[in-house]
Amino acid sequence: MSADTRGPVVVVGGGIGGLATALALQRAGRPVRVLERGARLDGGGAGLVLSPNAQRSLRALGVEEATRSRATVLTRTVVCQPDGRALARVDLDGRGASGALLGVHRADLVEVLAAALDPGTVELGHEVADVMGVEADLVVGADGIRSVVRAAMDVDVRPTHRGYTVWRALVPSGQDLAEPATLVETWGRGERFGVVPVADGWTYVYACVNADEGEPVADDLADLRRRFAGWHAPLPALLAAVEPGTLLRHDIRDLPPGRTPLHRGRLALVGDAAHAMEPNLGQGAGLALEDAVVLAHALATAPSLDAALAGYARARAPRVAALARQSRRVGRLAQHGHPALVALRDLTLLATPPGLARRASGRATTWQPPIPSATAPSPQEIR
Ligand SMILES: Cc1cc2nc3c(=O)[nH]c(=O)nc-3n(C[C@H](O)[C@H](O)[C@H](O)COP(=O)(O)OP(=O)(O)OC[C@H]3O[C@@H](n4cnc5c(N)ncnc54)[C@H](O)[C@@H]3O)c2cc1C
Repeated sequence: MSADTRGPVVVVGGGIGGLATALALQRAGRPVRVLERGARLDGGGAGLVLSPNAQRSLRALGVEEATRSRATVLTRTVVCQPDGRALARVDLDGRGASGALLGVHRADLVEVLAAALDPGTVELGHEVADVMGVEADLVVGADGIRSVVRAAMDVDVRPTHRGYTVWRALVPSGQDLAEPATLVETWGRGERFGVVPVADGWTYVYACVNADEGEPVADDLADLRRRFAGWHAPLPALLAAVEPGTLLRHDIRDLPPGRTPLHRGRLALVGDAAHAMEPNLGQGAGLALEDAVVLAHALATAPSLDAALAGYARARAPRVAALARQSRRVGRLAQHGHPALVALRDLTLLATPPGLARRASGRATTWQPPIPSATAPSPQEIR
């Protein structure tokens, strides 16, 4: 590690991306502070699916086992019609690109990442308004889709609403899930419902409904219960079990793919600050974890800060742009509202062999972390 890649780093934002970045840097021996505006750490609520690439990043960060011990291993994905008929079924049995997924509480992942950091790394209640005034050799923007660090880079990209809203909740698993250890998504017309077992007897549910940005709904939970009442079991029972007041609403926005530079000067971006995307691939948090690992590796191996940040951007930009575009395509397909297009989509899904579906997700899931450089000093050597 050269002198100017060894100085103090400030990470703005203590979400999954910020905590992972701090952990990766700390493990490489760098002094790092995380400034989080919230009064407590919060991964955004409800559940999360972690793909094999995300799991490899967690392994590189040394927290895969801790995460896995709190997660449910999902060995199958199924896409259904609202009457319960399966349109596509993929066994995640390790063949081809098909490693198992993990279903986790977001809060659990955040807790695991935070617990692995040195005490005092995260400074809560610290909102960064003046990025240029932050004292550090490197400032990493991990501050989400409305990033102030990205704004300080003078980047003119704005979040775009994608035409649908997602409601999410955690439900105690009292309902019989037809298929345990399975992620089930049910696709209707402009409506979608997801069911993901997560650990500790909880099921994560989400409903995606075509809607304008900010469209008012008098009673979200009652509306969802009405909307999905005729859908296959156990979806109505799962909605009936949602505790009022726990439902989270999210109008889906992304950043235009490929338009945000990942660094400028001594500023760099990770996670949603750099590449917020639609949630259809279940990859946003996974890519934030990858960013953390790659950025720390680049800083540990490049001869200068400029070279490290350029290398980081080269390694990440094509991948995150491609997956953001792919997520948009899946979103258009999954949220189709026109009956004829929906019928065609469903026929296509029925006719698609599982091997093809596995290969389609392979671009995202087969990613491998960079191999630590033999010449990079160990954390002990640096400390
Ligand atoms: C409905 C939905 C479902 C999803 N499902 C999945 C999934 O299954 N799998 C997956 O991998 N991804 C999923 N994602 C994507 C994932 O949630 C995000 O990509 C991930 O949480 C991004 O993490 P982040 O740390 O980059 O940003 P954020 O989670 O937005 O964190 C940013 C942090 O920065 C803080 N902050 C902001 N501004 C400032 C400031 N000025 N000063 C100090 N702190 C600040 C915020 O308080 C926050 O804590 C989903 C997203 C949505 C919307």
